[in-house]
Amino acid sequence: MKSNKQRRKEIQQKRIARAEKLKRELSNTVPPYALGLEGDVTAALSGVVASDKNELTHNTSYAIQPDYYLDKAFTCIDCKSREVWTAKQQKWWYEIAKGDINSTAVRCRPCRKIKQAIKAEARRIHLEGLERKKKGG
Ligand SMILES: [Zn+2]
Repeated sequence: MKSNKQRRKEIQQKRIARAEKLKRELSNTVPPYALGLEGDVTAALSGVVASDKNELTHNTSYAIQPDYYLDKAFTCIDCKSREVWTAKQQKWWYEIAKGDINSTAVRCRPCRKIKQAIKAEARRIHLEGLERKKKGG
């Protein structure tokens, strides 16, 4: 019997392999946005999601707007684990969360959570300090 953890790891490994294969096939020679893949092609390929340029207008930089997103394999800068930033997650980040087009995933989910918690704690301490100052204590 395989544990859930093992199974999740296997799924993750498969996703990484798929992302790397995709990268080899599509973006090693030509940047993805230059391929000009159409919507129906992206639907046929897993790990590829078409972009909605109307949702990317918050990016005022000269960076080229992508035609679609590709599953992207990366190494977490904190724990060095191999991860995949899925095309779907990228679409969410750039189009819904309005992330900068030049920003990219650098941390796995658990490390991101830790980082967020540290940041929140630092903010809390900072605000408490301001509050104390205001009260003159
Ligand atoms: Zn990590």
